[in-house]
Amino acid sequence: MKTTLLAPAILLPALAFALAAMHLALASPLLAQPTVSGESWQTLEYGDLTVTAFSDRTGTMPYSIFFDISAEDFAALAKAGGSPSEGELASWINFFLVEKGDRVFLVDTGVGAGPGIVPLLRAAGREPGTVTDILITHFHGDHIGGLLDKDGGTAFPAATLHTPRRDEEYFIPADGTDVPGTELARKVTLPYRDAGRYQAFEPGGRMATGVKSSSLWGHTPGHTGFLFESSRGPFLAWGDIVHAYLVQFARPEVTLSYDVDRPAAAETRRRVFNEAADTGYLVAGAHLPFPGVGQVTRQDGAFSWIPFHPAGAAGGGGASGGAPVE
Ligand SMILES: [Zn+2]
Repeated sequence: MKTTLLAPAILLPALAFALAAMHLALASPLLAQPTVSGESWQTLEYGDLTVTAFSDRTGTMPYSIFFDISAEDFAALAKAGGSPSEGELASWINFFLVEKGDRVFLVDTGVGAGPGIVPLLRAAGREPGTVTDILITHFHGDHIGGLLDKDGGTAFPAATLHTPRRDEEYFIPADGTDVPGTELARKVTLPYRDAGRYQAFEPGGRMATGVKSSSLWGHTPGHTGFLFESSRGPFLAWGDIVHAYLVQFARPEVTLSYDVDRPAAAETRRRVFNEAADTGYLVAGAHLPFPGVGQVTRQDGAFSWIPFHPAGAAGGGGASGGAPVE
């Protein structure tokens, strides 16, 4: 399968594209190559990890949900990045299957509306019964929506569901009260609890051999990244560190109405960008352009996203729908 590495869209001039591509070819550890791909999924090998990205759906985000940026600056960044609209930005909802040895990790589950995500997995040749662990970055509906089958049972019959305890405490308050999202959080976790396949984890702990959690709180109290060791280097599934790549790499301080603690979300974003740029992590993001895999670079203090795209999948591919990104 022919592959293309695209320069960040904010570096639109052809020269910048060529330089970025050259830089990647010479210096980047991002040498993963896709082995198979479809319209809504893409598999790549990264050392001893096999990572499959799934596109649950795409949509748009209007300026009105953003904070800490003027409408003029927002429009300018959208325009510079080639957005068809200067008043709204494209959005993606991705989730990831990570195969490591005899363990199969599903990182988040998308919105999962309609037929759910099982058909997506099957399209990529993956059976839901082979998933051993589901790792949830946080309790928003575009991450936990695909946990159940159409009958309300667990969509993954052998998997243990791992959720961040601080999100469990926030979204499913012990005193029985509700916050936005409580009803869904209760509903999708209950069948896993009943089946004895539910574990809430503390931040920073080891999830399995070579897999640990990392607190990325701010977007939600328990927002978590999962760091996988591989023979090619670290792979970080960072959940919702970025919602709008055209704006937030250039302006990490920009937040959204979905952020539970906006200052903390911005601070965490800047910290993770620096770590990712310093270490060369391969990164996977739930709301980055499909397949949502790439690297962060930093030059003169400014961050850029170096995406990894299959040829012929321009526009992100995948299913489309109007569900909001959270
Ligand atoms: Zn989200």
